Amino acid sequence: MITVRTIAELRAAVAAHRRTGGRVGFVPTMGYFHEGHLTLMRRARERCGFTVVSLFVNPTQFNDARDLEAYPRDEARDAGLARDAGVDVLFVPGVEEMYPPGALTSVEVAGITAPLEGRSRGASHFRGVATVVTKLFNIVQPDVAFFGQKDAQQSLMIRRMVVDLDLPLAVEVVPTVREPDGLAMSSRNVRLDRDARPRALGLSRALFAIERAVADGDRDTERLLQVGRDALGSCGIAAADIEYLAAVDADTLEHVPRIEAPTLVAVAARVGGVRLIDNLVVAP
Ligand code: AMP
Repeated sequence: MITVRTIAELRAAVAAHRRTGGRVGFVPTMGYFHEGHLTLMRRARERCGFTVVSLFVNPTQFNDARDLEAYPRDEARDAGLARDAGVDVLFVPGVEEMYPPGALTSVEVAGITAPLEGRSRGASHFRGVATVVTKLFNIVQPDVAFFGQKDAQQSLMIRRMVVDLDLPLAVEVVPTVREPDGLAMSSRNVRLDRDARPRALGLSRALFAIERAVADGDRDTERLLQVGRDALGSCGIAAADIEYLAAVDADTLEHVPRIEAPTLVAVAARVGGVRLIDNLVVAP
């Protein structure tokens, strides 16, 4: 594995591989790797052989300067994990490399970016993600890019953007990787202290409680969301710390009054000062 920091070096490494006729898989990340990231990398390796991973904590998608500041970083550790996962090129650009002064262009996906994370984090969040991912796609020019279901709305937005802008690549979405107790893996989990870690289980417990209630025959969204709020509460997550708990159409992200088709149940909450998200697609 090589680590490169400039767009020119990245392009040269990919071009050298392209000359051999090989495919290119790409996994964009913000680093502090966990088993979720490593699963995406291994999948890219299986599907494409040659694998490029970007590690860039993208400032334009953070609506909260303290959240950006507190985002965990450890490039040396990440490089070791990526190498062990079979990654060929680790792209670690600086902020100046990705955003030289004078840029005036951004990418915005309408509609599906408005609810859930869009409402909680503001319109600039997904604009920041769409813009940086478009730039990374143009830099790497992969055959397949890999994203996690953990960020369901982001993955949906990227799929839409790739279709709408005729970007010449396939998008593969990989199921959420969880800790044995159900907590969705996240780089932010390292910031959970001993008191917050058990409470963080509230998110996945709420989702699984809703899934069970649907399996038991309940279809009424309002009643099902109350089941979820009760589970969050019994894990010690106060109502004021829940940013949203919603059941929406898995394609349009519009509210559904009843769960009659595959439905995305998504939750965001603050636990011990850490913002966590999780989701589950629930089908009757
Ligand atoms: P991040 O570094 O958090 O921006 O995540 C990079 C990629 O890894 C995104 O496509 C995420 O959706 C994906 N990802 C993050 N956590 C998980 C997880 N627990 N399971 C599967 N994919 C994940």
